[in-house]
Amino acid sequence: MISVFGSANMDLVAYVAQAPKPGETLTGREFRTIPGGKGANQAIAAARAGADVAFLGAVGDDAFGPVLRAALAEAGVEVAALRVVPGPSGVAHIVVQDGGDNSIIVVPGANGAVTGPVGRDAEIIGRSDALLLQLELPMDAVVAAAQVPGTEVILTPAPAVPLPAELLETVDLLVPNEHEAAALTGRDDPRDALEALLDLVPEAVVTLGARGALYGSRDGTRLREAAVPVRAVDTTAAGDTFAGALAVARTEGADPARALRFASAAAALSVQREGASTSMPHRHEIDRLLEG
Ligand code: ADP
Repeated sequence: MISVFGSANMDLVAYVAQAPKPGETLTGREFRTIPGGKGANQAIAAARAGADVAFLGAVGDDAFGPVLRAALAEAGVEVAALRVVPGPSGVAHIVVQDGGDNSIIVVPGANGAVTGPVGRDAEIIGRSDALLLQLELPMDAVVAAAQVPGTEVILTPAPAVPLPAELLETVDLLVPNEHEAAALTGRDDPRDALEALLDLVPEAVVTLGARGALYGSRDGTRLREAAVPVRAVDTTAAGDTFAGALAVARTEGADPARALRFASAAAALSVQREGASTSMPHRHEIDRLLEG
């Protein structure tokens, strides 16, 4: 079983020729509400990739709360530990211009009210094979979750902020993209960044978008996995799909090379479809791509 302790947001996406300037009102082409948030995305990715997944986090008591809960539940994610707190759910207010450039305002809402897991929540984490964490919840809460003993801790360090030592001490595997890896280490070359990350944690994967991913472990293993060559239409949540699938492969006992291949296949399938959770592949699709 995999636990995800993280954010759930409603993405409010407006599609427009060009983002409005201050004071300007424009007519957009299309509007969509899409369940998102890195935590919820990783949970859905892991569930679709074949794991039993429990989501721990919070939504608000507004109209978005039940929709976010339903999106997780529909993907097969266990939501009994998802709290409802007074006030608005987390939202990401996204303007997509023609050509694909985004401007995004994230308002944490209920995510900002999440505190460290206690009682039954801590118990769920403690009996998980892996705990997936990101940084869209208050840092104190993330640190407390990572400190629950008994599970492998996999952290996607996004958004990129300095990581406290007490968090790094608990992390087994860090999965930044190349920009986050550079921000964490001050090294622009991803291979250098990977080496610097291994001074901080026992294992790391640096994802490189269409260029694939690098893996390193303190036992000396270094791997490079090319991305599956596909025509990408929307790379939103590629990293979350990758992290969710990577956790599934690891909890099934896959070795690092096999786990990287599995995660790359899942992410390559997701970039060929629009949206975040809407684009994440099911297990049989991943298996078929790997066999083919
Ligand atoms: P993030 O979404 O966090 O920025 P990346 O862009 O590095 O993360 O993408 C994560 C993974 O998704 C990559 O390591 C790769 O396996 C896969 N991926 C991303 N973009 C593409 C693409 N254009 N074609 C194939 N795979 C891709």
